[in-house]
Amino acid sequence: MTATAAKIIWLAFGIAWALLRLRPGQRARKTPVRYSARGAREFALLAVSLTGLGIVPFIYVAFHFPRFADYPVIPVLSYLGIAADVACLWLFIRTHRDLGHNWSVSLDLRDRHTLVTTGIYATVRHPMYAGFWLMAVAQVLLLPNWVAGLAGLAGFGVLFFGRVRREEEMMITAFGDEYRAYMGRTARIVPWLY
Ligand code: SAH
Repeated sequence: MTATAAKIIWLAFGIAWALLRLRPGQRARKTPVRYSARGAREFALLAVSLTGLGIVPFIYVAFHFPRFADYPVIPVLSYLGIAADVACLWLFIRTHRDLGHNWSVSLDLRDRHTLVTTGIYATVRHPMYAGFWLMAVAQVLLLPNWVAGLAGLAGFGVLFFGRVRREEEMMITAFGDEYRAYMGRTARIVPWLY
C-alpha cells in the first residue's frame, strides 16, 4: 500500500458515498418540511463538518498539503481503513432505506414525519451519525498525514456533539413519550454502551 493508493481509495469511497445518497436524498427532499430547527448555528456546524470530512482531506489528496504533517503509510492501518469505509457505506444504505422520507441533512421534521424505531434504528438511535464516525475513523486510518487524517474526527465531532442533544429534544417535542421510551431502550451510536 502506497500513500497514492490510499489517497485514491479514500477518494473512491467519498465518490461512492456521494452517489449512494443521491437518490434517497432527492426522494426525501420531495416531501415538504413542516418544521425546521435550522439557523446560523446549524449552518456553522455543517460547514465545520464538511471542512473536516471533505475540504481539508481533499486539499491533501489533490495538492499534497500540508506536507510537514506526513508520516509513512502503515499498511495494516490502511486495510482497517478500507474495512471502516465498507462498514460506513453499508450503514448509509441501511439508514436511508429505514429512514425513507424522514431523512434530512439538517434538523427538520417533514410532512407525515414518522418515528422510525425499526430496522437499523432498533439497534441505535443515530446509525447515520455512527456511519459518519466510521467515515472519520477511515480517514485517519487511510490518509498518512496528521492534519488531513484527524480533520474528519474534529469536524464531525463538532457537528455531532453540537447537534445530537438538540435533535433529540426536537424528536421529544414531536413524538413525546414515544421518543422517550425509544431513548430508554436504544443506545445513541454504540449498541448497549453509548
Ligand atoms: N440522527 C439520525 C438521523 C440523521 S438525519 C441518524 O443518525 O440516523 C436527520 C433527521 O432525521 C432529523 O432532521 C430528524 O428529523 C430525523 N430523525 C432522526 N431520528 C429519527 C427517527 N428515529 N425517526 C424518524 N426521523 C428521525
